[in-house]
Amino acid sequence: MDRFRVLVAAIGLIAAATSPSASPELSRFEYQHPHMGTLVRITLYAPSAAAADRAAHAAFERVRALDAALSDYRDSSELMGVSRLSGRGPVAVSADLFRVLDASVHMTRASGGAFDITVGPLSVLWRHARRAGEMPESPDLAAARALVGSDTIVLDRHRRTVTLLKAGMQLDLGGIAKGFAADEAASSLAQRGIARALIAVGGDIVATAPPPGQKGWRVAVAAIEGAPPAGFIDLRNAAVSTSGDAEQFVVISGRRFSHIIDPRTGTALTGRRSVTIVARNGTNSDALATAVSVMGARDGLALVESTPGAAARVSEETGGGIRSYQSSRWPAPR
Ligand code: ADP
Ligand code: MG
Repeated sequence: MDRFRVLVAAIGLIAAATSPSASPELSRFEYQHPHMGTLVRITLYAPSAAAADRAAHAAFERVRALDAALSDYRDSSELMGVSRLSGRGPVAVSADLFRVLDASVHMTRASGGAFDITVGPLSVLWRHARRAGEMPESPDLAAARALVGSDTIVLDRHRRTVTLLKAGMQLDLGGIAKGFAADEAASSLAQRGIARALIAVGGDIVATAPPPGQKGWRVAVAAIEGAPPAGFIDLRNAAVSTSGDAEQFVVISGRRFSHIIDPRTGTALTGRRSVTIVARNGTNSDALATAVSVMGARDGLALVESTPGAAARVSEETGGGIRSYQSSRWPAPR
C-alpha cells in the first residue's frame, strides 16, 4: 500500500472534471486494480455502466495477461522461459513478447546502450542489495556485467524468434513493460468502442481522446519528491511516463542508489532525479524515461529532441539544489 500512496503523490494524476453538458450521453467511470507490482487505474467515458464495466474488465484482463508473459518476477512467465534458454539458439515467442523485445532493442540503439533489457543479471544483484541494504560484491558485479550488452540479442522478425547469444543472460522488461501494457489496455478499450480513456499503469500513463468538451486529460507532472508539482499537461492521444527514484531506492553508506542501473558501468544510479517524458505511446515514453534517467539531462534531452512526438522535463538534485531542464517542445510535442 505504501507504494501506492507514494505513486499517487508522485504522479498526482488529476483527471479533468466531467462536463455533462458537453456530451450528455456519455458518463465518466473509474476503476482501479493492482497489476504489475503497481496500481492500474482506468478512467473512461461510456454510454452505460454495463458498457464501461465490460470494457474495463477486458482491459484489466489484457494487462494481467501481459504481466503473466512479460514479468521477470514470475518464473512461469514467457520472458523467464526465454532467459532460461539463453545460449541455446533461437526461441519462438508470442507476438506480444516479440513487439516488446523489438521496441526495447530500438531504444537500446537510440540511447547508445543506456536503456538495455539485458540488464537482468545486474537487476537481480541490485534488487538483493536494496533488500539487504548492502552493496553487491565486486566479483558478482563483474560476472553480471559480462552478461549485459545489447549485441547479444538477435531478433528474427520472419520466424518471430529471439536468440540470446550467451548462456546465463536474463532479460528485464521493467523499464518498458508497464508503458506497453498501458498502450495495450488503451487498444483493448478502443476495440470495445471506448474512445475517451486514460490508463495509468503506475507512473506510465496513456490517454486516448479527451473527456467530452475538454482539450485533454489533465495530468500533474511530478518534480523531485517533496518539491511542488512541475505544472500540468493536457494529454490526448499520447503518453506520459515518469521515472525516478521516489519509490525504489536504497541508501548504503550515505549514498542513495536507484532501481535504475547504468548498464554500461553496472552501477545503480545515485543522486535524486525525476524524468518525465511525453511521447506518442506508452511503450516509448516508459523506455525513454528510463533511458534519459541513465543518460542525464544533456544527452537525454538531445535524444528526446531527435525523437518525433517526444518532449521531456528533467529535474536533478545537484550540490547547488534542484535543477530542472526541459526539451524545446515541452510540454506539447506536436
Ligand atoms: P518504474 O519501474 O519505477 O516505473 P522505470 O520505468 O524507469 O521505473 O523502470 C525501472 C526498471 O527497469 C528497473 O526496476 C529495472 O527492472 C529496469 N531497468 C533498470 N535499469 C535499466 C536500464 N538501464 N535499461 C532498461 N531497464 C532497466
Ligand atoms: Mg521506464
